[in-house]
Amino acid sequence: MASRLSEASVRGAGVLAPPGRLLIDLDAVVTNWRTLCDLAAPAAIAGVVKADAYGLGMDQVAPALRRAGCSLFFVAGLDEGAALRRQLPDVEIAVLSAPVDGFQAIYRDYRLLPVLNHRGDLAAWPGDDAVLHIDTGMTRLGLDPAAVRALERRRFRLVMSHLACADEPEHGLNEAQRCLFAELAARFDAPASLANSSGIFLGSGYRFDIARPGMALYGLNPTPGLPSPMRPVLRLEARVLQIREADRPLTVGYGAEAEIRPGQRLATVAAGYADGYLRAASPGAGALLHGRRVPLVGRVSMDTIVLDVTGLPPGSVEPGDWAVLIGEGMDADDLAEAAGTIGYEFLTSLGARYERTYTGGEGAGA
Ligand SMILES: *Cc1c(COP(=O)(O)O)cnc(C)c1O
Repeated sequence: MASRLSEASVRGAGVLAPPGRLLIDLDAVVTNWRTLCDLAAPAAIAGVVKADAYGLGMDQVAPALRRAGCSLFFVAGLDEGAALRRQLPDVEIAVLSAPVDGFQAIYRDYRLLPVLNHRGDLAAWPGDDAVLHIDTGMTRLGLDPAAVRALERRRFRLVMSHLACADEPEHGLNEAQRCLFAELAARFDAPASLANSSGIFLGSGYRFDIARPGMALYGLNPTPGLPSPMRPVLRLEARVLQIREADRPLTVGYGAEAEIRPGQRLATVAAGYADGYLRAASPGAGALLHGRRVPLVGRVSMDTIVLDVTGLPPGSVEPGDWAVLIGEGMDADDLAEAAGTIGYEFLTSLGARYERTYTGGEGAGA
């Protein structure tokens, strides 16, 4: 039987109110792009917008970058490339990790640059409107150095390689990859690209002609262990659903692992691992309630987390209040670290239930 509630009345009653909200600051993305441009000049800065711009929304992020002056974009797959082409008719789009043979018509129809990773790709795409990917030590995608040396001279739009340890400046592989790439890229009359976000910060020798940052545009820290040079992009808030004060010793959540004493107060908040709030983040992570940092208690559930609000004045937190899960100095990097992972994984796991609001990014033309 159909519900008697019309959608309008449901909306009016607030029944459709989302449990959490995600605020994405496109001005911060543009500021980060400009920061990288200034740092890397005379090298140019492309925009890596794969995986829906690391979960932040390619449809919003890419046009903001375009207006700021970004003219070369990298995506992972053909679907992403086609979607971006529909939005931005006048930029270059390179597809990092997709098959080439059998899909030539799609690359042509959407004017996508294939990234040629192996001999089969090279045979499938004889044209010079392509990117040659050289494997200098990542051992993931790209042509072996020996195969590059054996390659007959061909023209490419770009020659690229990818660093395995750019976020570890002391790692010896960085310099080895840089030297090998410099030698191999010099064989081609094409612009060269090696650095991802962290690679830009390894020094001018790593920047070549074009750098390919992703994470730093989205406010993650490309210099782990040092203060972040990037502006935070994301703010994540979720509603307090329930407050409880323990009147006896209790355990909290699945597994009954967390124990609380009488008098401790808890706030249950509407975000869980189904929203990308990493399950492994507990214990260790926290949130902000009315500007005060409060710790997580017990395991992260699918739809909820529990915060210990004993440190806040009684009665100061109520159902309906917003808890800040990311923002005000608590970064995506911090939450990821508490969960034993990296900010990239947290961003690309952000759930679909949040209400997304974008600010800025308008009229950012140079
Ligand atoms: C994802 C990716 C990038 C961007 O890396 P960040 O660390 O996010 O800056 C650059 N190049 C390639 C080949 C990639 O796969």
